[in-house]
Amino acid sequence: MKLVVGHLYPDYLNIYADRGNIAVLARRAAWRGHELEVRPLSVGDEIPREGVDIFYVGGGQDREQALVAPDFAAKGGALRVALDRGAALLAVCGGYQLLGRFYRDTNGVEQPGLGLFAHETVAGETRMIGDVLLECELEPGERRTLAGFENHAGRTRLDPGATPLGRVVAGFGNDGESGYEGCRLGLALGTYLHGPLLPRNPWLADWLLARALERRGESPDLAPLPDDLEREAHEVAARRAHERGGRA
Ligand code: GLN
Repeated sequence: MKLVVGHLYPDYLNIYADRGNIAVLARRAAWRGHELEVRPLSVGDEIPREGVDIFYVGGGQDREQALVAPDFAAKGGALRVALDRGAALLAVCGGYQLLGRFYRDTNGVEQPGLGLFAHETVAGETRMIGDVLLECELEPGERRTLAGFENHAGRTRLDPGATPLGRVVAGFGNDGESGYEGCRLGLALGTYLHGPLLPRNPWLADWLLARALERRGESPDLAPLPDDLEREAHEVAARRAHERGGRA
C-alpha cells in the first residue's frame, strides 16, 4: 500500500530535527511492506483536500513561526476538509501552537493560528525545558506512555472541554500548571514533545500508520516489530523525566 504524508513547512519548522519523525514513519511502514511518499507543503502551496493520509508539522523558533503563521492560518479551511475526510495529523511544538487560535510570542506579537484546536498560547518569561513523561489513552482502555523532551516559552491553555493528548506524569506540559499536555481532536494530535518523539514512542508511529491504512480501506493491523532499542530509548527518557521530578 502506498501512504502519503503531507509535510508542512519542512523548510521552516524543523527545530531539533523534527523531521526525524517522518523517517520513523517511513521505515516502520516499509518494514510492513508499505511505501510512504512524503510531499512537502510550504508557503504558497495548496493543501490537497484528498490524497494525504497523515499531515505533519514540526516546531520552530518564534521567528520561523512568524514567517509561516499567516500562510498556515489561510490553509485552515483546506486542512479541516482533509481531516474531515479521514486524514490524521501530528503537530509538534511551534506547529502545535499555530493550530490553536493564536500564539503571542516573546516579542508580544500575536501570530494568527488556524483555530483547529481549542486553545491559545502566550509566551512566558521563562522557558519550560526538559524530559517529559505523559500518560495517554488514544484508544479506550489502551493506556500508553509517551516520553520526550520539551523546550518552549509558550504556555498553552486549553478551552474547557478541549481534550488534551495526555496527562503529565513528569515535566511541564502545556502550561506547567494544568497537568495536561498537548491536544487531541479526532485524529489530529498536537504536542510539545520534540524531535525524537516517534523513535522513543513507536506505538504512536504505528497508531498514525494504522489510521492511514484505515483511511485507505485497508486493515489497520500492523505486524509487531522487535523494538528493543526503541523500548530502551523510551525507558531512558522516562527515567530522566522521573528524576527531574513531578510536575513543574
Ligand atoms: N517558539 C515557541 C516557543 O518557544 C516554540 C518553540 C519550539 O518549537 N521549540 O514556545
